[in-house]
Amino acid sequence: MPVTDQAFVTLGTNDAYCHGALVLGQSLRNHRTSRMLAILITPQVSRVMRAGLSNVFDTVVDVDEIDSKDAVRLALLKRPELGVTFTKLHCWTLTQYNKCVFMDADTLVLCNVDELFDREEFSAAPDSGWPDCFNSGVFVFRPSLKTFELLLKFANECGSFDGGDQGLLNMFFSDWATMDISKHLPFLYNLSSSAIYTYAPAFRYFGKDAKVVHFLGSAKPWSYKYNLETKTVIEDCSTSLSESQRPFLELWWEMYSSSILPLLEKCQESHASEHQKEELDLSENQTEFEEGSLVSSYPLPMSVNTECVTETTADSCGKFSANSQLVQKVDGSHAIIVAEPSQSSTLPTVQPALQHAEETVDGGFYFGTCEKGKTQEELTSSISELSIPPEPEPEPPSAEDQRRKWEEGHIDYLGKDAFENIQKKLDSFLL
Ligand code: UDP
Ligand code: MN
Repeated sequence: MPVTDQAFVTLGTNDAYCHGALVLGQSLRNHRTSRMLAILITPQVSRVMRAGLSNVFDTVVDVDEIDSKDAVRLALLKRPELGVTFTKLHCWTLTQYNKCVFMDADTLVLCNVDELFDREEFSAAPDSGWPDCFNSGVFVFRPSLKTFELLLKFANECGSFDGGDQGLLNMFFSDWATMDISKHLPFLYNLSSSAIYTYAPAFRYFGKDAKVVHFLGSAKPWSYKYNLETKTVIEDCSTSLSESQRPFLELWWEMYSSSILPLLEKCQESHASEHQKEELDLSENQTEFEEGSLVSSYPLPMSVNTECVTETTADSCGKFSANSQLVQKVDGSHAIIVAEPSQSSTLPTVQPALQHAEETVDGGFYFGTCEKGKTQEELTSSISELSIPPEPEPEPPSAEDQRRKWEEGHIDYLGKDAFENIQKKLDSFLL
């Protein structure tokens, strides 16, 4: 029987983390959780990703981003991106549930963990870096607007010792270390991938009982590449990998490639056909497309036999959207170009193995050249490497956007609309 007043909750402020959230959600479903699945997302998450998320999660909740903007402390942690983890605090507003388990989007469950709901607020597992602190990647809490307000007030007044949510929550729930041992979750519910190699004998002895793995740190599963044929994770110079971490990463990618990628492709297709329909409606009176370009929906056929034809999902500005494939004659042979990802989609790119990417004048990428006469099947069979494009830098909101948000009541109390900034502005008017 589903328990509708309790939920697992996660957070994704961009498409990259949402790929992780989808794998987490799917792993909870695969292990037959009886609880609801909820995700908090922010406006930056794309439409295709939202559609994917609503297939896996029971509730997708839009929230505003809260950023600690505490550059100094975050620099100490070497993780400037973690200010945004303050957004996690919104989980206390999910008052449709009376008890929840928060899980970071970079966690993966290895078995059913519904027994976590037997615990009380605030339960969490020790952090492997400083065990008198808890790690805020997995915790049990009770949604309450009162607690949410107290947390915001606390954040404003006291900040966070590490600039992220973990410092803040440890300062707020400061008696966790000493007060009540039942609020200490076993480490097996939040096994950090870094602990695996810092205490290898313990991992060898206890690791088989792990229940939740947490890919903590700056290299996330989606930072790696994956070989679909050999089902192995590929390291490159920016990512290092210990051999004991490998099975967990490969489990993540196996789940991603077998269930999440097909789901996102389906969502991308229906989004593209809706988009195309809208465009057709708009251009009913327009008889000609721009010279030399043919607007087509994703996925495009890899029609490598076609001579001198350019097929692309180029938008009106001539920029390619992610996953568009350009079939073009280059020096008598044909080239497939997977265009640079645009913000509208960060679906993974697949590349033929052992071929080199080369930047083109369009800013797209060649993945080798294909011989004339190859069928689509032959091409697809040589595709073996999967990677998720990095998240594009968000554009700063325009002054107009900021004013609209203010007028709609979305006020960034902790950031640019903080009292001291407003005071400065008032002072500048008065002087
Ligand atoms: N998060 C997010 N967008 C970001 C950074 C973090 O949505 O840009 C969310 C996501 O749920 C993530 C959590 O905040 O799992 C905590 O961040 P992260 O896992 O990167 O921290 P770590 O566990 O490595 O300390
Ligand atoms: Mn994490």
